[in-house]
Amino acid sequence: MVDTVNKETRSRMMSSVRAKDTKLELEIRRRLFAMGFRYRLHVKSLPGTPDMVFAKYQSVVFVHGCFWHYHGCHLSSIPETRRAWWKKKLEDNARRDSQAVSELRRIGWHVLIIWECGFRKPKTKRAEALDGIAARAAGFLKSKRKQLEIPLLPRSGTTNKPGKGSTHGKKKR
Ligand SMILES: [Zn+2]
Repeated sequence: MVDTVNKETRSRMMSSVRAKDTKLELEIRRRLFAMGFRYRLHVKSLPGTPDMVFAKYQSVVFVHGCFWHYHGCHLSSIPETRRAWWKKKLEDNARRDSQAVSELRRIGWHVLIIWECGFRKPKTKRAEALDGIAARAAGFLKSKRKQLEIPLLPRSGTTNKPGKGSTHGKKKR
């Protein structure tokens, strides 16, 4: 592996990931709005500053970039350079996220987390993937479910993630 190339690629990748996060959020928002849902944005008075707040449905939605929020999927690897520093930073982010979710649940909010990797399916067109996720988000809002992640990762491979596992039951057969 060539370190300098990796570093450049990595920083380019990370800044583009950040920009895309915002764009993904916007595209989901647009679709939910078109379906008739109304929401408030980036509500700072709630734990974790949820991206969207649907008061009528007592629900909040986060749209998370997999790298920054340390999803544990293929998009969330720890950079090779300054690995220990990154590991701590990303684990702290994930810990803060799961604390926010616990706090939101404690005060009665339903929580939906939409992950970036759900949009990036190799054999699905972007618009189709977005439509699918918006439809699932709408389904969640209208349901009585208290918590959901899209996509839901298999439990294996995320064992060293802080806070994970506490919100889910035993492995399904
Ligand atoms: Zn992911």
